[in-house]
Amino acid sequence: MKHILMIATGGTIASKETADGLTPQLTSEELLAEVPELEQLCRIDTVQLMNRDSTNINSRDWLQMAACVRGRYDAYDGFVLTHGTDTMEETAFFLNLTVKSDKPVVLVGAMRPSTAMSADGPLNLYNAVVTAAARESRGKGVVIAMNGLILGAHGAMKTNTVDVQTFQSPNSGALGYVLNGKV
Ligand code: ASP
Repeated sequence: MKHILMIATGGTIASKETADGLTPQLTSEELLAEVPELEQLCRIDTVQLMNRDSTNINSRDWLQMAACVRGRYDAYDGFVLTHGTDTMEETAFFLNLTVKSDKPVVLVGAMRPSTAMSADGPLNLYNAVVTAAARESRGKGVVIAMNGLILGAHGAMKTNTVDVQTFQSPNSGALGYVLNGKV
């Protein structure tokens, strides 16, 4: 079984609806507990690096994320970062430039909070782990896995503020797809 590290940073995927709006509050353990199917797929450890709305992510946070992957690089076969969607493309771009990795590094989030009807987070997280554990993902650089698409960090863009089909690579197209547990 592949050994994957999930690094949680916050975003809507970790959010609940509250009277004050959406706030990231699910821990990385709680996020994993939403997807028990992952146990069949790989061995997975998790670290809670921060729990922030990604509009507040700054360059210090980016350095922390890069250091987290680099510091544990030898211990894992792949890395999944849960992250808000608002600045996911910037974080992916930064990590693509700073983490020199043949091993898969996959960013994932959700457009709907964990408390929403038909929340997209659990399936997105499952697909991100499938992507991180896949042989086909090696040597592809940092990728974003959202709503069944796998997009390279250099071309991915958030194109819609509400639709679950928001990340696209208009100029280069998708690197791949995840469907029924396979890349
Ligand atoms: N504001 C949220 C964030 O970027 C939006 C999301 O995750 O979809 O953290």
